[in-house]
Amino acid sequence: MINHGNYRGIYIHIPFCIAKCGYCDFYSVPIGRSMDWQEQYLRGLVAEMEQRASFYDGQRIITIYIGGGTPSLLTSEQIDRLLNKLAATFTLSSDIEITIEANPATVNEKYLQECRQAGVNRLSLGVQSFIDRELCLLGRLHSTQDSKEAIRAARAAGFTNLNLDLIYGIPGQTTDDWTANLCQAMAAAPEHLSLYLLQLEPHTPMGRWVDEGKLFMLEEEQEYQLYQISREFLSHHGYQQYEISNFARPGKECRHNLHYWHSAEYIGLGAGAVSFINRIRQQNAQLDSYLQTSDDYQPNFWQGEILESMSERQRWIDAVVMGLRTTQGINMDDFKRRFGVDLHQEYAQVINELMAGGFIIIKDGYLRLAPSAYFISNQVLCRFMA
Ligand code: SF4
Repeated sequence: MINHGNYRGIYIHIPFCIAKCGYCDFYSVPIGRSMDWQEQYLRGLVAEMEQRASFYDGQRIITIYIGGGTPSLLTSEQIDRLLNKLAATFTLSSDIEITIEANPATVNEKYLQECRQAGVNRLSLGVQSFIDRELCLLGRLHSTQDSKEAIRAARAAGFTNLNLDLIYGIPGQTTDDWTANLCQAMAAAPEHLSLYLLQLEPHTPMGRWVDEGKLFMLEEEQEYQLYQISREFLSHHGYQQYEISNFARPGKECRHNLHYWHSAEYIGLGAGAVSFINRIRQQNAQLDSYLQTSDDYQPNFWQGEILESMSERQRWIDAVVMGLRTTQGINMDDFKRRFGVDLHQEYAQVINELMAGGFIIIKDGYLRLAPSAYFISNQVLCRFMA
């Protein structure tokens, strides 16, 4: 088992999408199918890597995650160059996990083969739904057929570590619709599934439709029902739930996400990317800085704002909140060794109250959420933040 505290991770943000989805509030810029930005942006990434190389000072990187936006808008040759530069700049572990996120409408077998040859060994497909009506409502550009073809292409290209992202709680979604989605996912036999509850963001088109009464979100009770269906269905099909929203075949848990949940350090490269180093959570500068880099070179052009500078206490509280997201929970002895904090003592009252309510469990030295509290985890976790 990996001790994430001893290793490092790198996230690379590719903040471009063909068009904005109706529910999306992530930092990404719609650019159509224009190819103009990529080289300029890559030059920025290379410059940032060179400036930040010493941050890790020879420490081994065990995970690289290329996320977005839509990273599959980069060509396979550009991904190859990016990974070569990372290998030349940082110390990569020989068994490193390298994930790329892809929109099903932007990949084919040849492209995926070339990505594999470049070193990508995990593919995360943003399927979101296998029902065209739902994809349309979400404002996704791809169809169910595109997803099926992308899954076929991924397998043909040799990917043996495939994640599918699915969204539940889509307006109008019934339990039958959701079960049909899960059945379609099973037909692809992915190694990993991430299931996200649709979050309504007020400044998105979907947020406005709901505001104007043109669209109705599901009731919380219905959302809960869909979540419970997922847990039972996936358990029945041999998937282990290892985090509130994530399920995997044994041994195929996403190392990159585990790295976050173990509250380990990571660097985020690229416009708007977040890093967590030395108790400081910092967000990179926005896109303009990146696109200017090639023309008008600025030292430390990537430096943005500090989101959070943590005290020692905030640091370990953060580790509690992240660790409790995993179904394994927190090993309290390890926690004491790592932070010098006895969770029994620190949280005596909170633990007693939450245990009496059936929201948390202490077993075999682990503090963890009770499965019945997964769906309301935010309410439970905030008790540990006070
Ligand atoms: S593809 Fe992803 S990042 Fe891009 S707009 Fe859609 S949801 Fe947002």
